[in-house]
Amino acid sequence: MSEPLYSLTIGQLSPLLHQGEVSPQEVTQACLDRIAALDGQLNSYLTVDAESALTQARQAETRLRSGEVTPLTGMPLAIKDVIVTQGLRTTCASRILSNFVPPYDATVSAKLRGAGAIFLGKTNMDEFAMGSSNENSSFGAAHNPWNRDYIPGGSSGGSAVAVAADLCLGSVASDTGGSIRQPAAHCGVVGFKPTYGRVSRFGLVAFGSSLDQIGTITKDVTDCALLLQAIAGYDPKDSTSVNLLVPDYAQSLNQEIWGLKIGIPQEYYGAGLDAEVAAAVQQALDTLTSLGAELVEVSLPHTDYVVATYYLIAPAEASSNLARYDGVKYGYRDPEAKNLLELYNQTRSQGFGAEVRRRIMLGTYALSAGYYEAYYQKASQVRTLIRRDFEAALARCAVLATPVTPTPAFRIGEKVDDPLAMYMSDIFTLSANLAGIPGISVPCGLSSQGLPIGLQLLGRHFDEATLIQVAHAFERHTDFHRAKPRL
Ligand code: GLN
Repeated sequence: MSEPLYSLTIGQLSPLLHQGEVSPQEVTQACLDRIAALDGQLNSYLTVDAESALTQARQAETRLRSGEVTPLTGMPLAIKDVIVTQGLRTTCASRILSNFVPPYDATVSAKLRGAGAIFLGKTNMDEFAMGSSNENSSFGAAHNPWNRDYIPGGSSGGSAVAVAADLCLGSVASDTGGSIRQPAAHCGVVGFKPTYGRVSRFGLVAFGSSLDQIGTITKDVTDCALLLQAIAGYDPKDSTSVNLLVPDYAQSLNQEIWGLKIGIPQEYYGAGLDAEVAAAVQQALDTLTSLGAELVEVSLPHTDYVVATYYLIAPAEASSNLARYDGVKYGYRDPEAKNLLELYNQTRSQGFGAEVRRRIMLGTYALSAGYYEAYYQKASQVRTLIRRDFEAALARCAVLATPVTPTPAFRIGEKVDDPLAMYMSDIFTLSANLAGIPGISVPCGLSSQGLPIGLQLLGRHFDEATLIQVAHAFERHTDFHRAKPRL
């Protein structure tokens, strides 16, 4: 094969590794060289451990020779820096964890290692996964590989950049309100958030515990199926993981979608939707129709409340989860503090960035006595209405199709001083987390400025298979996933 190894997909590379045509060391070295050449401009990795990656590659080589293999054996991956990795620094892009080396593996990390995958390093993100642009990283913004003046999306910006720029074969990340789907859309790659409960969150640093879910960012839908297969499943270490059979997702590939009903929620196509995004999504719907899918108009009447509901629940849960960073147990501690109160105050105000502090304050307020009923409890009630909207809509169709984002990627700096504008850019992705349903983002076009546009498909609880089926049918009949940024 004449293409460089780093540019292949997991699905393409896997047989080459299995047949011994290429070695894990060659693939790993190809990725490491590309990171060294390009990541200075993109800032997609916070930690690269070349030595350990090459050691893992040698171990994978032994496994490949022994025949004890999986589709991920010898595959160099990038892990979002919010998922703990034993012995490999995990910072959540925060000063407060800048020197934290976890003593254990997250369940997904352990599963991937068990499958023979190689960890190249940890990817950049918004601090504690709070953000939509990767500009909230304490270690500098990541840059969109299609145009470095633009944001890659967030919070999993580094993962999406690393996949889009061929700096890894695939990535695992987290999605609390769109953090996988939105950066995948902005970088022209495939992002998948499984159903809440499908993938163990043991070892995922908690942000909004009723919303957080681990998923995948990959170059195409086949790779999404392969990577999801490796990480899905019940885990007794995560009480929210669900003990349900995990289907063979590869069986959803190459299936037709004749007669399949796709719901079009009218509220997701209204005012505020950029004309180029609307046109690309409409064209994608036409493609799906030409493949035999039947479009049905549906309504999600509580859509107007999604952003407000999410931005109460997520910060409330974050304020509680982040109480553990107190300068005592682990992470940064202000060396100057003279007493316990100073230690808490100074450690937290120096250790956390502006957006994280804003959320802690908002969340603490929403949970405080006298306000709890009016804010957190009310938001939880509205959340139930939002979930019911989805259940009613998905009773009439197999999946819903919407844009991922209201606009293509915006310029770095454009929204940093306007948190509300930033929050509004999540308008189409937050609801899947509030409802707990799975969602996938697939590339469906480029704007006139050459920035990627994504199509979002949302499915029924635990029906990841149908999303993969529809997304793969779309991908087989389009070329958007093959477009690469010029670097
Ligand atoms: N952009 C959303 C937020 O800032 C979602 C982030 C995420 O999914 N982790 O909270």
